[in-house]
Order: sequence, then C-alpha cells, then structure tokens
Amino acid sequence: MEVVCPNCNKLGIEKYICSSCRVEMTDLGRAQEVYQDDYTANMPINDSSDYCIHVFKCNSCHNKEKVQIKKISI
Ligand SMILES: [Zn+2]
Ligand SMILES: [Zn+2]
Repeated sequence: MEVVCPNCNKLGIEKYICSSCRVEMTDLGRAQEVYQDDYTANMPINDSSDYCIHVFKCNSCHNKEKVQIKKISI
C-alpha cells in the first residue's frame, strides 16, 4: 500500500470553498512549488508524511488559502 496525496495524483475528491464568498476554489498546486520564489518563513510549507499542503485560489475574490490535504492509502 502506498500513501499519496489525492490532489497531486488527480484523485481529488474534496472541493474547497472560499471562506468569504463560497465559490469553489482552484488548486494551484503544492505550496512548495507555488511559493518557490516567495518563501514566507512563518508558514510551514513542507509536506509531512500525513498531509500535503496545497494552495487554493478563489476564482471570484482571488483569495488564496493553504489547505492541508490528508494523504490517503491506495
Ligand atoms: Zn499534494
Ligand atoms: Zn472568494
């Protein structure tokens, strides 16, 4: 059995809704990749063995949120 992030592997089942306008958010990818050039030291962006951190962007208000995607066993 392998533990993988469902969003990195296009198994994405979960949808994330913007907390301010309730529009479905787009997965921009892993925080590590999205913030390559824009590292914020106070935000943990490294993956743990249990979850993968993705950045989601709202298509309506352009709010960005980091979401911990829990890895699943396949
Ligand atoms: Zn992932
Ligand atoms: Zn929004």
